[in-house]
Amino acid sequence: MAEPTPNAVARMLGLLGDEWTLLVVQQALLGTTRYGDFQSRLPISNSVLTARLRSLTDAKLLERHSYQSNPPRSEYVITERSRSLWPVLVSIWEWERRWVPDHSDPLPGMRHTSCGGDCAPVVTCGSCGEAASEKDVVAQWGPSGSWSRSIPATATRRRSASDHAAGLFPQTMSVMGNRWGFALLVAAFVGMSRFTDFQTQLNAPPGSIADRLSIFTGIGVFEMSENRYRLTEKGRALFPVLVTALDWAQRWYQASEGPAVILTHTSCGGRFDAVLTCDLCAERLRGARIEAAENLPKNS
Ligand SMILES: [Zn+2]
Ligand SMILES: [Zn+2]
Repeated sequence: MAEPTPNAVARMLGLLGDEWTLLVVQQALLGTTRYGDFQSRLPISNSVLTARLRSLTDAKLLERHSYQSNPPRSEYVITERSRSLWPVLVSIWEWERRWVPDHSDPLPGMRHTSCGGDCAPVVTCGSCGEAASEKDVVAQWGPSGSWSRSIPATATRRRSASDHAAGLFPQTMSVMGNRWGFALLVAAFVGMSRFTDFQTQLNAPPGSIADRLSIFTGIGVFEMSENRYRLTEKGRALFPVLVTALDWAQRWYQASEGPAVILTHTSCGGRFDAVLTCDLCAERLRGARIEAAENLPKNS
């Protein structure tokens, strides 16, 4: 039997389920373009950086431009595809700030330059404009959806210790920075809870599932009772990360048959597209209008 064609969910898990990819994209969005600058701003080895710059260029998340011929030098410039990942990164930033208090360097607040306030992003429904949460959004497979088409085909290669990002978003990386972890999170959001279901539906190696489940319960994203694994409040708070990532993937990796996942906002009955707004001024957020606040908010 032929391998099923990967759909948008498989692209999402394959591309974003890698911690270094997210960190390199984040640096690129902040304006880093040159090899040496990526290297000095990230705790990354030469071989890992070279490999990620190549895979991101192949995936059209970066474009390589030559700026000097003797000796040859290139820079890596963001594309529309990677620029549009900002809602995912902003959602990760907010989750880490709110749920992971023990950062060695506290994350700065988020400033919305339109209103000047230190803001938090709010997920709203693109159809009705109201705030939305995982409680009022339901997911169904679309024409290109099924678990077999949603799992990326390439095996996660074994990583060396130096291959792990030390970094900025440690807990997000232990959830998302691994394709089985990210797949488990998606499965939990659609209601899957038993070890055997995770294993058979995702067609995952039991060792990988056991490994991720122990990490998820360890950091308090899942809790286990009566042999079922369920999202905790902290886990459910990853909803914005998940819906912004899914929106991004379905925008850039459309299948001719139709979407992989169809989200419906039950409050209004309309199709759910995640739109991030500012909690202070209610304006729709734009990537170019968000910056790190220089000082931590008062009372923190
Ligand atoms: Zn709605
Ligand atoms: Zn605002």
